Amino acid sequence: MSTDAKPRTVEGGCLCGGVRYKITFPSNHDFAKGSATCQCEQCRKNAGALIWHEHTVPTSSLTFTAQGTLRRYYATPGTARGFCGACGSFLFWHKEAKDSLSMSVGCLDKDVLARYGELLARAATHIWCADAIPGVTDRLEGKMWAYDSEGQDAKLLSSS
Ligand SMILES: [Zn+2]
Ligand SMILES: [Zn+2]
Repeated sequence: MSTDAKPRTVEGGCLCGGVRYKITFPSNHDFAKGSATCQCEQCRKNAGALIWHEHTVPTSSLTFTAQGTLRRYYATPGTARGFCGACGSFLFWHKEAKDSLSMSVGCLDKDVLARYGELLARAATHIWCADAIPGVTDRLEGKMWAYDSEGQDAKLLSSS
């Protein structure tokens, strides 16, 4: 494994560049644990994709270098969905009472994904698989949770 197998920082932003950010990972960041996917209706519609790939980081690790077009939409009170008001990119999901937030992996820059895509996006945790599309998104590697992966209602659908 090369010394840069794990990035210290990565950069990303929206399609038009109105929002740009940098993530500085804590030295003990657990990349495997940070990666997940969600198939709930909100994430699906927000992303315009059947599966939303996210990577969770501490809120303090995110720095905006441009945010003139940054907007927040609340499909659920207290939970912000950050997006670009100019081009529409879905940038992050943030339950504001928590000190971590989930970044859309697809908004990381192309060179970041080419180099660290597997590390940042190969998820072992898949949530809201009760809404999986049979034959398309219902056979993911890892743990497929019906809804959330934590809490008393957590229900595992499959594990591989
Ligand atoms: Zn934009
Ligand atoms: Zn979701």
